[in-house]
Amino acid sequence: MTHTKIIDGKAFAENLRADIKKRVEKLKQEKGVTPGLAVVLVGNDPASEVYVRNKGKQTIEAGMRSFEYHLPETTSEVELLKKIDELNDNQQVHGILVQLPLPKHINEAAVINAITPEKDVDGFNITNVGKLATGSDGFVPCTPLGCLMLLKDVVGDLSGKHAVVVGRSNIVGKPMANLLLKESCTVTIAHSKTTDLPALLKNADIVVAAVGRPNMVKGEWLKKGAVVIDVGINRITSEDGKTRLVGDVDTNSCKDIASAITPVPGGVGPMTIACLLENTYRACVKS
Ligand code: NDP
Repeated sequence: MTHTKIIDGKAFAENLRADIKKRVEKLKQEKGVTPGLAVVLVGNDPASEVYVRNKGKQTIEAGMRSFEYHLPETTSEVELLKKIDELNDNQQVHGILVQLPLPKHINEAAVINAITPEKDVDGFNITNVGKLATGSDGFVPCTPLGCLMLLKDVVGDLSGKHAVVVGRSNIVGKPMANLLLKESCTVTIAHSKTTDLPALLKNADIVVAAVGRPNMVKGEWLKKGAVVIDVGINRITSEDGKTRLVGDVDTNSCKDIASAITPVPGGVGPMTIACLLENTYRACVKS
């Protein structure tokens, strides 16, 4: 019987952050530079405020400089682009992140593409998307980068594995598929129009679920021994009225079928900020 390993993303992320902190310290001593991350938040979305606060806290804990800009909901696109220009020119800022979603009156693509590619630590800028798609070095979006680190840690060499990525968003599904292709996986991308997802998953050595549908992927769909990365973060209300977070994978049904699986919470989630710090460190080293 396959005993399912629970992949401890929280511990992995803690180790990564501790390692980044050491590298930052060394950089400060040897080169006299401190990596700096600027986070721009427009409006008062409560979930975004929590993310931004956590990013700022963890940036400082890693020994980096944190610059936070909370702009009002009424900020115009022109004003935001001016702020991006200012940060592009700021020598103390090595990474720039604009918290998404932006208010409806602002063109997200225009803002993301205004960030200089060398400071685009989120990897959403068209230049970095193109670099990833063509297999050259650029910034890779933090969540898929974190998923890849966990996968390599559990599986080792990914070459020749069949990976099915469920979801084709620009921030998770597509970059994940490109990363796996770069690792020489055979990659299938599934989405809402895919006709027989269970049949596809039956042939998958690796499953990455980034859908946004609570407990959608069932254990009985999996090939025995598959490694499952659950990116989903869904808040559901239980019968007792309490809310809790669940992933896109029905974890209980995967027990003893999957060889390894990430839990929600405590799997992919903590990796995202750790990878943001890694990208900021790399941006500083390259500057
Ligand atoms: P999107 O809503 O942008 O994309 C969801 C994707 O799932 C789409 O490509 C959609 O297909 C596909 N999909 C929807 N229904 C089905 C279905 N029944 N079968 C197969 N595919 C389906 O979501 P994101 O990629 O932004 O996020 C996905 C999940 O990951 C969410 O739960 C989100 O909260 C979480 N997340 C977690 C992060 C973390 O740090 N751990 C970071 C980012 C996201 P189509 O394109 O055809 O519509």
